[in-house]
Amino acid sequence: MTIVDTPERRQLRELTRSFVSREVLPHLADWERAGEVPRSLHETAAKIGLLGIGFPESVGGSGGDLLDSIVVTEEIIRSGGSSGLVAALFTHGIALPHIVETQDEGLIDRYVRPALAGTMIGALAITEPDGGSDVAGIRTCAVRDGDHYVVNGSKTYITSGARADFVTTAVCTDFPGSGSVSLLVVDKGSPGFTVGRRLEKLGWHCSDTAELSFVDVRVPVSNRVGPEDTGFLAIMQQFANERLSLATQAYATAQRCVDLAVRWCRDRSTFGRPLAGRQVVRHRLAEMHSRTDAARAYVHDVAERVAAGQPVVTEVAMAKNVAVATCDWVVDAALQLHGGFGYMRDAEVERHYRDSRLLGIGGGTTEIMNEIIAKGMGL
Ligand SMILES: Cc1cc2nc3c(=O)[nH]c(=O)nc-3n(C[C@H](O)[C@H](O)[C@H](O)COP(=O)(O)OP(=O)(O)OC[C@H]3O[C@@H](n4cnc5c(N)ncnc54)[C@H](O)[C@@H]3O)c2cc1C
Repeated sequence: MTIVDTPERRQLRELTRSFVSREVLPHLADWERAGEVPRSLHETAAKIGLLGIGFPESVGGSGGDLLDSIVVTEEIIRSGGSSGLVAALFTHGIALPHIVETQDEGLIDRYVRPALAGTMIGALAITEPDGGSDVAGIRTCAVRDGDHYVVNGSKTYITSGARADFVTTAVCTDFPGSGSVSLLVVDKGSPGFTVGRRLEKLGWHCSDTAELSFVDVRVPVSNRVGPEDTGFLAIMQQFANERLSLATQAYATAQRCVDLAVRWCRDRSTFGRPLAGRQVVRHRLAEMHSRTDAARAYVHDVAERVAAGQPVVTEVAMAKNVAVATCDWVVDAALQLHGGFGYMRDAEVERHYRDSRLLGIGGGTTEIMNEIIAKGMGL
């Protein structure tokens, strides 16, 4: 029995599987076309306790830790969901942790509890049109004016940005690019805060992505997450969970594609024999399976260490890069084995091929992960 295969986690898998087959699979193609998932899905997921996994009961969550969140992510994708669906439904996984960490009861009551109950949607806005990798260089500024901040600037590529009721926003509390970063929770409907166009993308079609604009937006000081100038550290600390979630989406997508390819290669015959009857195909499937298993084992190992509170920043970066590289290779191979059908919208593998391209970009790119790894090597 592995750490993610305890009786409780098997139950969690079962719960997730039945949620996906009942609530997601009949509608996913429609949501992909609509460009978003419905609000009702958040409420349904909250009612069965899925939305709150990984958050303490004291703030409205269902309890559990990073490994439980990983189990949910694995199972959503294994059951036929997608990384885009995980991004859309679990955006609170990146929007809330900084707030929870501060133990600010006011912010927890106004934002964390409703988001975990599925009645509010939150987003996290760090990236700006001028750049996303350089978090310390953000230019959206908040200038103190009495008991408010006045925010000016813009954000882009924000997941759930079009639907969000509130946005945990990284702002500069000194001059633009100064590195003095703070987090402010900005409410939808605040005068001067507008959601720009929905961005059209290669993949993650069921996950809305938006540009946000801030023109003299007055945000109460009480909406600041933690003390001023602690935003950069808070963002970096929470990156571990986001990066491991993306790593999980990567090997889980790879696993789903292995499963789809095995099924396809058993059923599809060419030149009078099933594809799986040819050694070259079997070996390709064997390699896909092996690489996926290795990536999963490594991500689990690193996640276990993060859950135990160990400082493994370098290992988290390595886990993300290893899982993403595995996913890229496996998904490409799976599509190739499907032949022309792999290129068709009707093929599930086609969606994974498009969706997975994001995983080496979001939450810190592959190159930024390599920078972290090189630093960890003393270079
Ligand atoms: C679908 C989607 C959803 C997203 N959701 C969110 C969200 O919810 N919230 C949010 O804040 N952001 C979000 N992002 C933004 C994402 O985090 C950024 O795109 C990412 O961090 C990269 O930033 P950038 O696009 O500005 O690229 P840049 O920082 O401009 O980088 C461009 C290229 O240069 C490389 N590069 C940069 N610096 C270096 C260096 N020092 N050395 C070597 N190479 C370097 C990068 O790796 C990349 O390949 C999302 C993006 C997408 C596509």
